[in-house]
Amino acid sequence: MAVESEHWVFYFDPNRCIGCHACSVSCKQFHGRGSDTDDWRTVTHHQKGTYPDVEDVPLSMSCMHCHDAPCEKVCPTNAIEKRESDGIVTINRDDCIGCKYCGWACPFGAPVYGDDGLMSKCNMCLGRGPGGGADVEDTPKHELEDQVEPNCVSDCVGEAIKAGPQKEIIEEASQAAAERFRSGAVANGRVIVEPLQDSTSAVDGSVGGTKEVTTPYNAGD
Ligand code: SF4
Ligand code: SF4
Ligand code: SF4
Repeated sequence: MAVESEHWVFYFDPNRCIGCHACSVSCKQFHGRGSDTDDWRTVTHHQKGTYPDVEDVPLSMSCMHCHDAPCEKVCPTNAIEKRESDGIVTINRDDCIGCKYCGWACPFGAPVYGDDGLMSKCNMCLGRGPGGGADVEDTPKHELEDQVEPNCVSDCVGEAIKAGPQKEIIEEASQAAAERFRSGAVANGRVIVEPLQDSTSAVDGSVGGTKEVTTPYNAGD
C-alpha cells in the first residue's frame, strides 16, 4: 500500500490566481460535461479589506481527495473508493444509487448530483467523460502514460494550481504553506495553500517579505 506521502494532493496559491475561471472551464471541457452542469472545480470570490479599500480574493477548489474521505465512509453501496496507489477518491457510477449521502457528508460540497440521478466529482483527471475514474487501472497516477497533469493545472493562466504526490508538492511549497499543511490548519490538511500576501504592508517576517493576511482558508487559524 502506498504511504500517505505518495498520495496526490492539490496546491493552491491565491496570490497567483487571477479569478479567470479557466480551471473550471478546462475541467468541464476535458470531461465533456455540459455548461449547465455543476462544476467539479469552482472558483469563488471573497473580499479582503473594508470599502473603499477592498480586494478580490479568488479561491479555486475541487474535491480534495481526503485522507479519511467522509464520502467514502457513508456510501451505502461502496461506490466511492480512495485508491490505494495514489490516494485519488473515485466514484463508481455503476454502483451509485444517487442517494446523495456523499454530498451531505462532504464538508466541501465536492460531489455534484447530475440529471442522470448519479453523483460525480473531480477524479484528478483519471479518464474522460462524466464518470469518477473508477474504471481506470489502479496504478499510481504518475505511472500512467496519459494525463499526468490534471487539466485545471495545465490550463491555469496564473500557474496557481499544482497537483502531485504529497511529498513532492510539499517540497515545492513555501515553508509557511508546508507548515500550515502539516499542522492541519488548512482545510484539515487536505490541500496545500499559500498564505495570502499583503503587498501594501511593511515586511513582517513572512513569505516573500510581505505580510500574511487572513484568507478564506486560514480564517480563524
Ligand atoms: S468528495 Fe468531499 S469528502 Fe470526499 S474526498 Fe472529496 S473533498 Fe473529501
Ligand atoms: S449518491 Fe451514490 S456515491 Fe453517493 S453515497 Fe449514494 S450511492 Fe454512494
Ligand atoms: S483535476 Fe481534473 S477533474 Fe479535478 S478539477 Fe482539475 S480538471 Fe477537473
